[in-house]
Amino acid sequence: VSAPEDWTAPGTFEVAPGVYRIPLPMPNDGLRAVNVYALPQGERVVMIDGGWALAQARERLVAALAELGYGLAAVSRFLVTHVHRDHYSQAVAIRREFGTRLSLGGGEEPSVLAGMDDSGPRLSAQFARLREYGAAEVVTRMTAAMEGRQAERYLEPPDDWLRAPVDIPVAGRTLRAIATPGHTQGHLVYRDAAAGLLFAGDHVLPHITPSIGFEPAPGPLPLGDYLESLRLVRALPDTRLLPAHGPVCACVHGGVDELLAHHAARLDAAAGALAHGVSTAYEVAGLLGWTRHNRALADLDPFNQLLAVNETGAHLDLLAAQGKLTRSTADGVLHYTS
Ligand SMILES: [Zn+2]
Repeated sequence: VSAPEDWTAPGTFEVAPGVYRIPLPMPNDGLRAVNVYALPQGERVVMIDGGWALAQARERLVAALAELGYGLAAVSRFLVTHVHRDHYSQAVAIRREFGTRLSLGGGEEPSVLAGMDDSGPRLSAQFARLREYGAAEVVTRMTAAMEGRQAERYLEPPDDWLRAPVDIPVAGRTLRAIATPGHTQGHLVYRDAAAGLLFAGDHVLPHITPSIGFEPAPGPLPLGDYLESLRLVRALPDTRLLPAHGPVCACVHGGVDELLAHHAARLDAAAGALAHGVSTAYEVAGLLGWTRHNRALADLDPFNQLLAVNETGAHLDLLAAQGKLTRSTADGVLHYTS
């Protein structure tokens, strides 16, 4: 089947010899769908990412694998790019039923353990960080938005923590798992150098800027990690991009260049905003435009406000770490000055 105009359209799409893209639905999310990739190997199939554990996503995956002549029981292993629900939760659910081997980057271990600890409220690390960024109001809005919603927890440890770089033989090819911290601390991409393919997860997405450090146990400088991981991938020979969200394209280098330029502009904008008499990440976020439509922070829903403030804080923290501005704390809130 040739590539559809809308990358979220259901089906099984051969994007390279023996590599099938399967878009799966997500619940009311701006990303619209998540691509998982099937690599058949005789009687078995290895999957890269698992999708969001939803009844419709499971039905879609079953139908897509059936087109290739497989059932869920034939899936021998999930190589997951990172701990986020849209990549990991369905793999966990399928493992419960079929005992499928589940692999995740070793750098995700602190987040998996923190996410399994149900002694505190959900998103407690993100909320603590929002308060530091001066955005207690966003915590209030998020708490109200989450009220009454079921807080099912999906995190469980995998069967193996991958210690990248590591080469994984799959269906006659070699996938190299490469650590690309930033989007999450333990994010991995899987690179098939011989076939010229990069299973990029959320590290590089076409025309979308991945969020930075939204995870149960974020690192101290997620944007610094992310930019370093972008440069690492940029230094490898160019390949086709097989992203978790969006169409397949010949655009690893082009996509990385766009993301580096985007963050350079946002770093400048964050530093420039401090000239307007503001000092917290929340206030700076309020002066910047959001999404490609340049929307005001106040017009975003609470979850996207959380991501926006988090991102602004990540930019300001990196500038502070680079000595380009100073950071001080007053009453538990971080203040940045040029
Ligand atoms: Zn993600």
